[in-house]
Amino acid sequence: MKESCYCGRTGEVEDRDPILDGRGKRVLQCPECGHGDDLCWLSEEAGRLLWEEAMSRRGVTADESLPAA
Ligand SMILES: [Zn+2]
Repeated sequence: MKESCYCGRTGEVEDRDPILDGRGKRVLQCPECGHGDDLCWLSEEAGRLLWEEAMSRRGVTADESLPAA
């Protein structure tokens, strides 16, 4: 999935940095400008899958990164 950030960077959304914000919300952060996309334009399920794909591209599984519920 390709997307362009407002800073001008274009690329796949999955290549952004997957982080959790202070409230535990999944965010994909632009590595160029640090802008965080909270994926609110996607459904909950689609946003989760996209974020987990970004994690797996970095060799990290979601199970390792998320705090135990
Ligand atoms: Zn950006």
